[in-house]
Amino acid sequence: MSANLLKILPNRVTQSLTAAYFRVATWKSVGFRGTHSKTELIKMENLHVKILPALQDNYMYLIIDNNTKKAAIVDPVDPDSVLKAVEDEKVLLESVLTTHHHWDHAGGNEKLVEKFKPNKLRVYGGDDRIGALTDKVGQDDSLKIGDLSVRCFFTPCHTTGHICYYVETPNSEDKAVFTGDTLFLGGCGRFFEGTAEQMHSALIVKLSGLPDETKVFCGHEYTLQNLKFGHHVEPKNEHILKKIEWSKEKREAGQPTVPGTIGEEKLINPFMRVKEPDVQKHAGKSDAISTMQSIRKEKDSFK
Ligand SMILES: [Zn+2]
Repeated sequence: MSANLLKILPNRVTQSLTAAYFRVATWKSVGFRGTHSKTELIKMENLHVKILPALQDNYMYLIIDNNTKKAAIVDPVDPDSVLKAVEDEKVLLESVLTTHHHWDHAGGNEKLVEKFKPNKLRVYGGDDRIGALTDKVGQDDSLKIGDLSVRCFFTPCHTTGHICYYVETPNSEDKAVFTGDTLFLGGCGRFFEGTAEQMHSALIVKLSGLPDETKVFCGHEYTLQNLKFGHHVEPKNEHILKKIEWSKEKREAGQPTVPGTIGEEKLINPFMRVKEPDVQKHAGKSDAISTMQSIRKEKDSFK
């Protein structure tokens, strides 16, 4: 799309045209390299996470146990980019952790499995619609990546089979959760196949129960848009204002805003704050579940 055309169009039209352009570009070009963010390696003590941008605003994550160099990949929609990361990091990829069946998360599973033959990749997920699935998982199922322990959280709502993966290591304080399209930084996924009660259970009962220092790696780079909505809901929330400034700097430098933390999400994310009087007041409701329903509906058409 020409820069001149972009200049003369009103902002909203430009945004939807850009989105449409990216969709076409994504569909057309084989092995499309996501350029929305730089690749980054987050190093905790034993747990390393390589952030791999894909498509227009998706993230894939290579989870590495630094002791054994065994690895798993979350939502490998771009298998070529995954292969390159596996080679660059010199790790042994053993499994695929799929958060949900949508094509921009699970769409690369079959191709990746094919590329690894004769080695067998285990493909985990909570939904029969997930391609190449070998191990269907549900609430509290567990698996290993080398010495790392992974616990599954069943979080239906965005889709009926959505799973979040919580990773810990027995030898260190490292903790991370991979939240797909359930929890975004500053926001949550749309309720395509579920209810406000289910999202309440996912965010307030399950994910809020994780230790505050748990790092949050979500499925899309939506942070700034989400924080703008959060500011609309809670104009006086200083944590949101600070995070907006920080996120703008990161995005201008082409860097991802992930990871966040569970503790920070409790301060900045309106969907994690549906018990707070200010958020309930904004929604005109007096309980957390109706507030969840109301602010999600408002966010669906928020510009
Ligand atoms: Zn989705």
